[in-house]
Amino acid sequence: MSINNYDVIIVGAGFAGATIANCLANANKKVLIIDKRNHIGGNAYDYFNNDGIIIHQYGPHIFHTSNKEVWDYLQKFSGFFPYEHRVLGNIDGVLVPIPFNFKSLELTHQKEEAETIKQLLKQNFPNKKRISILDLINHSNPTLKAFGNFVYQKVFVYYTSKQWGIHPSQIDQSVINRVPVILGYEDTYFADTYQFMPSKGFTEIFNSMLKHPNIHIELNTNIKDHIEFKDAIYIDKEKFNGHFIYTGAIDELFNYQFGVLPYRSLDIVLEKHNLTHYQPVATVNYPTSEKFTRISEYKYFLNQDIKDKTVIAKEYSKAYSLESKTDPYYPINNEANLALYKKYEQLAQKYHIYLCGRLAEYKYYNMDAVIARALTLADKLK
Ligand code: FAD
Ligand code: UDP
Repeated sequence: MSINNYDVIIVGAGFAGATIANCLANANKKVLIIDKRNHIGGNAYDYFNNDGIIIHQYGPHIFHTSNKEVWDYLQKFSGFFPYEHRVLGNIDGVLVPIPFNFKSLELTHQKEEAETIKQLLKQNFPNKKRISILDLINHSNPTLKAFGNFVYQKVFVYYTSKQWGIHPSQIDQSVINRVPVILGYEDTYFADTYQFMPSKGFTEIFNSMLKHPNIHIELNTNIKDHIEFKDAIYIDKEKFNGHFIYTGAIDELFNYQFGVLPYRSLDIVLEKHNLTHYQPVATVNYPTSEKFTRISEYKYFLNQDIKDKTVIAKEYSKAYSLESKTDPYYPINNEANLALYKKYEQLAQKYHIYLCGRLAEYKYYNMDAVIARALTLADKLK
């Protein structure tokens, strides 16, 4: 069959690729979607182990969004149940809510001191529920500044050096600002309007998105083994006339010709325990000790009622390199990397390639942002 029987080729069956495939198939386009892995779902892929416990293969994934369009779209593919993610931080052996809130303040300070700081916070940030840690460490009030430095040291400095290999002052502020300081007792990790988990896991969503007579899926297929860049894109020696959408790492597609784009990677180490629960909440962060950044206990994500068995995942962040064959997980946002990315982006434009997703756009997107980007691109291509 000629490759030109397809109107669209999509590389990558994660949220970016699957959303575009689904929308374009519904608009009567013939879609070929390929992935080099042996499964669909990209990094959101999950499965059930022999004990029936959900496992997120590429690390814990929690759905949350304030984008109604994304939320309405996603509900077509799965049942969902309300799930508010709660995280505790093990700070010098004491478990305190993260983001750091008034309860965390009380657990780490003497009563009187905690009261003084709470009053100062209320006076200095009236009507604010969440502030940036940077608002505190740069504050002119010495008590608030000292409090800010305490939280910075205890929550951000060591965790960030584990996660990114550098001090928090050296990374883009938007990364640190993903985790605020809460002025009150609210203890959910996210503040979004819609916080839900798919009742049967994320992979079920992908099955449902891609089950369509206009979509053909090829797994275990790396586009690099099939593509050539000449006057246009050639797939298996044939010039492809349709739309080409790429959702993987852009430097890989172009053989790293301008250099390797930096990322952080992860080792996710699973442990089985003969316990009903290993820890009191889904995720415990380790901002003052240990080599791993956090432990997530997967059962919590589906409220699974399974006795005497549980699975936890420890996340060890590490450098990404071609030699070690690590997976690129986190784009590292800084000027030099962005300049390198732009070179690849221009090359992609030359071949009329549409880039969509966390790797292809080199942006620290959550799932909802990727779906939003994909819906916009699909609209354009319909
Ligand atoms: P991906 O899911 O990475 O999909 C890209 C696909 O392209 C992959 O399947 C890959 O195999 C394929 N591919 C790449 N190159 C090629 C090639 N050359 N040939 C063929 N196929 C190729 N977001 C949240 O909203 N909530 C969370 O709690 C959350 N937790 C996260 C935890 C971790 C540890 C990580 C790493 C990310 C987390 N995210 C979370 C982000 C979320 O994973 C991404 O936003 C989303 O999965 C990105 O979707 P995507 O389609 O852009 O990319
Ligand atoms: N962070 C931290 N301590 C924490 C939690 C987060 O220093 O206890 C910082 C760290 O730099 C991290 C960033 O905030 O990379 C964003 O955290 P988030 O939980 O959003 O990361 P993700 O879930 O994407 O890995």
